[in-house]
Amino acid sequence: MQFDLITIFPEFFAGPLEHGILRRAQEAGIAQVRIQDLREFTKDRHRTVDDRPFGGGEGMVLKPEPLFEAVEKLLGQSVGTAERAEALPAGTAIVLLSAAGKKFDQATARRFAKLERLILICGRYEGVDERVAQHLATEEISIGDYVLSGGELPAAILVDAVTRLLPGALGNEASAENESFSALEGDDTLESPTQQFQETTRSKAAAKLLLDFPHYTRPAEYRGWKVPDILIGGDHAKVAKWRREQALEKTRRNRPEFVGQNKLR
Ligand code: SAH
Repeated sequence: MQFDLITIFPEFFAGPLEHGILRRAQEAGIAQVRIQDLREFTKDRHRTVDDRPFGGGEGMVLKPEPLFEAVEKLLGQSVGTAERAEALPAGTAIVLLSAAGKKFDQATARRFAKLERLILICGRYEGVDERVAQHLATEEISIGDYVLSGGELPAAILVDAVTRLLPGALGNEASAENESFSALEGDDTLESPTQQFQETTRSKAAAKLLLDFPHYTRPAEYRGWKVPDILIGGDHAKVAKWRREQALEKTRRNRPEFVGQNKLR
């Protein structure tokens, strides 16, 4: 998978994408990350990427021309005009990072992981000319309900979340299956009272997602806090059931919206 990041701070990505799974995925040729300096697409002496907002108000806005031209250079084709839109190559998404975008989640990461190419546009200042959101980007994505000073950290987060879902990126393929935000449906390993609970949630159409179960490692006792006995007992069926229940309990406690409004005693 090819990631292209368009930014006015190309040096920003030197650290965040060069460790662990991301580093290995790039070394293995599973993911390729390229950084595109937006200022290469300016034509004036000062390499201006921003301008004052029409209608007045605070701050500066990233101009459309360098962004359109940067994306077109990466694509090797025009994206068109108001009169004539050009189709994008299949398997390509152009994402504008924006606090006003649709919220990023694991389902979106999975959808992106099926693409061949993701072009990520990092905003700065007060934001980006709206024509970029409307006519250049295929989607406008927020990483959460807070405002950051630039789209670089959000873009790095997308690259991370998507890369680890690419086949072969994780050492152990199974480890992407049982982690947080996997679907709650379709699991039969549950018994009462969680069984009851699951039955009620199954009958509902609401989103049912499960967070990860708690993990423990040595020492078995630390400052008097003990690892749950079940994990030490070696009964795999009991361990599986316990993890399932704990995952459900934690989801109810931390993210009740994932499991609907069902009351569980
Ligand atoms: N005026 C804008 C905020 C601009 S912040 C507003 O009120 O919505 C500058 C840039 O940071 C944005 O263009 C965007 O690229 C990035 N950014 C800030 N918060 C973000 C978030 N939650 N998710 C994704 N990108 C974000």
